[in-house]
Amino acid sequence: MNMKLKDNYDVIVVGGGPAGIMAGLASLKTGASTLIIERNGFLGGAATNSVLGPISPFHFGDEQVINGIPQDFMEELIKVHGSTGHLKALDPYGSGAYLGFYDREKYKYVAEAMIVKAGGDIFYHAFISDIEKKGNKVTGVTAITKSGSRTFGAKIVIDASGDGDAAVMAGAGYVYGNPETGRAQPGSSMFEMVNVDTDRVYDYIYENPDDFEWKSDLIPIREYSNRLKQHYFVAQGFKKLVKQAVAAGDLCFGRDSVIVLNGIHYGSIHFNATRVSGYNFADPIEKSSSEMDGRRQIESVSEFMIKYVPGFENAYVSVTSNEVGVRETRHIKGLYTLTAADVGEGRKFDDVVSRGYFPIDIHNPNGATGYTKGSNGGCWVDLKDTYDIPIRCLIPEKPDGMVLSGRCISGTSEAHGSYRTQGGIMGIGQASGVIAGLCAQKGIEPREIDVKEVQDKLVEFGASVWRNEEKKAKEEAHAKKCVREYMGKRDKSITKKEILEQYFE
Ligand SMILES: Cc1cc2nc3c(=O)[nH]c(=O)nc-3n(C[C@H](O)[C@H](O)[C@H](O)COP(=O)(O)OP(=O)(O)OC[C@H]3O[C@@H](n4cnc5c(N)ncnc54)[C@H](O)[C@@H]3O)c2cc1C
Repeated sequence: MNMKLKDNYDVIVVGGGPAGIMAGLASLKTGASTLIIERNGFLGGAATNSVLGPISPFHFGDEQVINGIPQDFMEELIKVHGSTGHLKALDPYGSGAYLGFYDREKYKYVAEAMIVKAGGDIFYHAFISDIEKKGNKVTGVTAITKSGSRTFGAKIVIDASGDGDAAVMAGAGYVYGNPETGRAQPGSSMFEMVNVDTDRVYDYIYENPDDFEWKSDLIPIREYSNRLKQHYFVAQGFKKLVKQAVAAGDLCFGRDSVIVLNGIHYGSIHFNATRVSGYNFADPIEKSSSEMDGRRQIESVSEFMIKYVPGFENAYVSVTSNEVGVRETRHIKGLYTLTAADVGEGRKFDDVVSRGYFPIDIHNPNGATGYTKGSNGGCWVDLKDTYDIPIRCLIPEKPDGMVLSGRCISGTSEAHGSYRTQGGIMGIGQASGVIAGLCAQKGIEPREIDVKEVQDKLVEFGASVWRNEEKKAKEEAHAKKCVREYMGKRDKSITKKEILEQYFE
């Protein structure tokens, strides 16, 4: 392979995370020439680089609200034995309605192969260092590399950098985290352990139900590769053991309980367990300190697991995040700022371009505890209904020539707490690519586009822009049937009895 890059593109996507991948694919699908610029040597952003475990739901309840290119990506992953597809969480509290486990190496491969197949270019190992502008309009980007810098012209630039780097360089306004507290959600240094006897871990959870804040069996709603495990679970707790280990001086980390979930492969357990709090992740010096904090916590938690938790006696750490997982940094100021009320009340907007569905999930920025009542700690707030993300949240107040994507779109810290997981982010990514692709080819600004054209194109690509009641009813009936069949065959369950019973009434 000998890729040549052009000097000018219709659309340049800054950042190749879940948002950037979807933005790139959608832009290409509209017919726009597209370049993704990514500072790492692979795609996936936090999903691969920070060693995430599952893709959180595309669903509200059983209704699949993220569809189109994000689902095409899941299908490709499933085809190459790289994903379980969406597994239904019987108890969605703490983890969301569905979880789709994936192999991170397959994720990198599939994302890249899809972009290349669609005719897109990818420039790896290139860090955006400047934005080219004429007056208020962005006209290109400059990327710094090991061999100096290179400038590319673009009709539209999509900022999918997570932190909103391109928008900030271009002079856009922003807030960091929650301006009332001056804090953003904590990060987590993620890791996995292998050679774990996962059945014994499951049995421990089963035998010690009161030791867990939440826990759930996960149910397949379709077949997937028989090379992968066929039973997955998630739980947060081990509180007694944590307390004991902390008292003995054997454990020191930012939480009072440990979240465990299966890794996708046999014998592996994934840990979203550390809490790296109090750092400004947009500040490289503070972020450097956070890496060291996270690594020390990984060492402490993994040794705790080996010493205290049944099933981990012969386990070892197989992978740690290359970069601390950063949940939240800057929110760029757009033509509209999505609020907690919009999200919580399930508000709809005429200029919808994607849909949100995940509870407001804020990890405690101040302390070790899990979800608490009130605004001082972390929270998990269920939504009344799905909500709409209007196109205005993806268009910066200034400058022109730019579309926002992924976690830096215009929303409050609380609203971000909902749309921030991969499903929501991929839906936003898809929409941003359609907006940019259409604008670039029409020679207009994102603020000038007729949203109807964007919606029509999204529907053509298979996206769910509005609820389809008939489809929703079918999905609910199918999920119920799958739960009955699957759980009917199991001899034990860690899911709360009253939740399980609902399926067998
Ligand atoms: C600890 C943690 C746990 C999580 N757990 C889950 C989970 O279980 N399930 C789930 O669905 N979601 C989870 N998420 C959320 C998920 O990671 C995000 O939804 C998603 O990664 C956000 O995608 P993004 O593309 O907006 O940003 P990112 O993933 O941050 O991607 C941004 C990309 O831009 C690149 N980039 C940044 N700046 C530049 C620059 N200046 N020049 C060039 N490239 C640049 C980066 O290298 C990166 O590839 C978790 C997040 C964290 C941090």
